[in-house]
Amino acid sequence: MSKKTIVLAEARNGELRNVSFEAIAAAKEIASGGEVVAVLAGDVVSDMASQLYAYGADRVIAVENESLKHYTTDGYKQAFLQVFDKESPEAVVLGHTSIGKDIAPRLAVKLDAALFSDVVAIESEDELTFTRPIYSGKAFEKRSAASDGPIIVTIRPNNIVAQEKDESASGEAESLSVDVKDLRTIVRDVVKKATGGVDLSEANVIVAGGRGVKSEDGFKPLQELADLLGGAVGASRGACDAEYCDYSLQIGQTGKVVTPDLYFAIGLSGAIQHLAGMSNSKVIVAINKDPEAPIFEVADYGIVGDLFEVVPLLTEELRNV
Ligand code: FAD
Repeated sequence: MSKKTIVLAEARNGELRNVSFEAIAAAKEIASGGEVVAVLAGDVVSDMASQLYAYGADRVIAVENESLKHYTTDGYKQAFLQVFDKESPEAVVLGHTSIGKDIAPRLAVKLDAALFSDVVAIESEDELTFTRPIYSGKAFEKRSAASDGPIIVTIRPNNIVAQEKDESASGEAESLSVDVKDLRTIVRDVVKKATGGVDLSEANVIVAGGRGVKSEDGFKPLQELADLLGGAVGASRGACDAEYCDYSLQIGQTGKVVTPDLYFAIGLSGAIQHLAGMSNSKVIVAINKDPEAPIFEVADYGIVGDLFEVVPLLTEELRNV
């Protein structure tokens, strides 16, 4: 049965996040021939519409309002509910990002919708079925809606493949004005932390270091490898606690959840809380001097050795490929 499906697209610093394009692909699967409408909210967003068309949106709605310049739960909830009032979607898809995690349950309550969160795969053949990891990624469960009511789906970045970009599909955004009032919080200013170029949660290659790197300087060879491969540097909590790097790099149960194509786990033991954040990576390469380190149990490739010898050698070899 076809479903009109809305995608809540997400932009950061004026650029759409990849997960928005993946959400369009997910929405196509859910819509099963129904209309897919991408919604962009912010102060000035309509110029990003053409990319959403290029990745498969049938329509794009720009919700522009000065009060939506920065994300606030209150403001965005009010804006999206007004879009839903007008569009009456049967399904809504958004990224399982910090914004998605914050707003999806609130929208689900307001719409009396079934919520499927952290979805990594969708099947639509007989019945719409959503696959999501449970028990920190040790198992997967499949869920379907118990009734015909609306559904809200958050998708984990880097799992559902976006459609090929079709530059010939372009269009203008339809503008929708919304009334945003009585905000309980107002963002006055956002101070950005200086970080590397590649966003950890969307990186295809991650080079993660643990307590084994021994110091802030010990991360340098990992950064070189990441730069060479166009990837991002991540860390275990052990490395963050030891103040070798910033907590924004922490991967795991209480850090970021990532699913890159290639994950280097270097000088980290592979504690269960770390695995919770990275064990679904497509290919895992572990480098550790202890052959008994638990990380080798989840690794596709393992190198037993001193990271300060192995990583520079590997970088050098890859530079020559
Ligand atoms: P260690 O366990 O000390 O491992 C260091 C590894 O480096 C060892 O395996 C050692 O053999 C290797 N090594 C040392 N020197 C070298 C060398 N020269 N060359 C090669 N290898 C070398 N952890 C997370 O990562 N993310 C989380 O989100 C997280 N959340 C947590 C939540 C809770 C509630 C709790 C209780 C813990 C959490 N932890 C988390 C902490 C987790 O339990 C581990 O303590 C932590 O992951 C260990 O970090 P590590 O692997 O870097 O350090």
